[in-house]
Amino acid sequence: MGRYTGPVCRLCRQVGEKLFLKGARCYTPACAVDKRRRPPGASAAARPTRRRASEYGVRQREKQKLRYSFGLLERQFAGYVERAQGMPGITGQYLVQLLERRLDNVVFRLGFGESRNQARQFVTHGHVTVNGRKMDIPSAILKAGDVISWKDSDKQEEFVKARMTGGPRQAVPKWLSLDQVAMAGKVLGLPQPEDSDVKMDTRLIVEFYTR
Ligand code: SF4
Repeated sequence: MGRYTGPVCRLCRQVGEKLFLKGARCYTPACAVDKRRRPPGASAAARPTRRRASEYGVRQREKQKLRYSFGLLERQFAGYVERAQGMPGITGQYLVQLLERRLDNVVFRLGFGESRNQARQFVTHGHVTVNGRKMDIPSAILKAGDVISWKDSDKQEEFVKARMTGGPRQAVPKWLSLDQVAMAGKVLGLPQPEDSDVKMDTRLIVEFYTR
């Protein structure tokens, strides 16, 4: 599956918010959103302030925030929305549950990787096991009870060990548990929209796709 490979800070500037796509740099004054509040592009540079968004624009922005945060292409993201719409109950809640339980996201939320991008790389390079077996599919959806571990004796181990003990990182959400010494985590239950580190309005995202 393809993914966006361009400059990620541009995506944050486009939605006007920090999406924490670059790891440690996002917590420093070098962050492009902190430095330049206006959207990217020459025409935006000519405007002193951000243009007021239409109703469509507001919904699109919420969708982009979530899509960019998870590093998904439009059709991949639309596929998740379609899957969530096929489930009985609240579509926005299912959407977040599907995205949050992706293996690359779980590896990121456990703190193994600095960003979802890096976590995805760890998975595709075979550094992660699920229930004791190597799993290299970033989009694999985990379920309650699954145990995610760092695979022993490989060159990235020192980096992850250091991350377990220090460095800027988000708190582990309550639907996951982490054993820092064993470098292993467990899925305890289903994530809820409020557990997501991406602050968005799922209602607006669902409305964008049902317009
Ligand atoms: Fe770049 Fe991170 Fe700042 Fe986003 S939050 S603009 S990815 S440094």
